[in-house]
Amino acid sequence: MSGIINVFFATMKGSKYSAQLKEGYSVEDIKKIVQEKFGSTNYRLVVNGQEIQDNDPVKFAELKKSIKNSTTIYVCQRMDGGSGLVDIDSHKATILVDLQDELRKIPTQQTNSKCMICTEEKKCIKFCCSSIICKECFPNYFANYDYKIICLTCNKTVSPEKVFVTSQFIQSLLQLDETTLMARNIDFQICTCGAFSINSTMYAKQKCDNCQRWLCFFCNADWNETEKKMRNETYTCR
Ligand SMILES: [Zn+2]
Ligand SMILES: [Zn+2]
Ligand SMILES: [Zn+2]
Ligand SMILES: [Zn+2]
Repeated sequence: MSGIINVFFATMKGSKYSAQLKEGYSVEDIKKIVQEKFGSTNYRLVVNGQEIQDNDPVKFAELKKSIKNSTTIYVCQRMDGGSGLVDIDSHKATILVDLQDELRKIPTQQTNSKCMICTEEKKCIKFCCSSIICKECFPNYFANYDYKIICLTCNKTVSPEKVFVTSQFIQSLLQLDETTLMARNIDFQICTCGAFSINSTMYAKQKCDNCQRWLCFFCNADWNETEKKMRNETYTCR
């Protein structure tokens, strides 16, 4: 159907709701959906690493261009304490574990060729123009390139579905991209309980509205002033 954009709204615990936006929609239309689905508009809305703001029509018009079918709009807690954290490191750890399974499924070349990393003759994975990497070297290579597939010959970034086969694994990588982008662009975090939230003050000591945990926003640790000597500073607890 033309004129309709099917989007997702993601909130606490990562649950997703689908919704439709009619072409020419405004910030108000988005807020209406948020009101309907979440019972309040007291949230900050984030899409593609940018916050949706209703006081800047030019920026919103620009942002609208990035809202396409199956785009996810994140519904974040609005708190003046701010809270939560992007647990990117544990996401990466999960990916490395899943990568072991994934590597068993990726087809290799039929005959031996020289791995560009360990230089041994093995049945390797070949991708892009001429990157040839064996399955033993692949995990380290992948982690070193920050979970991206970069061609060792032409330096191009190869999209994950060109190399990996399991859609869940590919999805997980795309999600990591999205989360990394957000963490970089705004004070947006995800608590270990899964709640999205934003730190408005940038002080370290924050409480998650969802699980009530006190934590350091920046290093992901439970708040502890006595043993760990954590201090409530901006951008750090040390
Ligand atoms: Zn190798
Ligand atoms: Zn290449
Ligand atoms: Zn929490
Ligand atoms: Zn800290």
